[in-house]
Amino acid sequence: MEKQIKEFTCIRCPIGCQLRAEIENGAVVSVTGNQCKRGVEYAMSEAVHPVRTVTSTVRAVGGVRPVVAVKTVPEVPKERIFEVMAAIRSLTVSAPVRIGDVLLKNAAGTGSDIVAAANLNQR
Ligand code: SF4
Repeated sequence: MEKQIKEFTCIRCPIGCQLRAEIENGAVVSVTGNQCKRGVEYAMSEAVHPVRTVTSTVRAVGGVRPVVAVKTVPEVPKERIFEVMAAIRSLTVSAPVRIGDVLLKNAAGTGSDIVAAANLNQR
């Protein structure tokens, strides 16, 4: 039986509990250090399938600013972040843009969309 200990800082709230997950045969069997159950959920997800929200900006033409803030929805697998960033860098959109607009579907084949996180009015 393969046993492993992984330690994480919970990022679900500003307290930042230091979590310790015990993993046996690829499954989390116990979590300690959490002050609430969200920490258990975070440790279980982080131990087996870590994901992150990627935030960045996309080039925009015809807007009052040259870029618009974006984020990934849903979160992307941690190991695919560089591919998603490359997809974001290759993107150019035209103003106007509204919060929630999907600017790129299925970025880098991850199933996550690149979504506007701010409004951008036309010049
Ligand atoms: S375990 Fe709960 S209290 Fe601790 S950082 Fe995570 S969300 Fe916050």
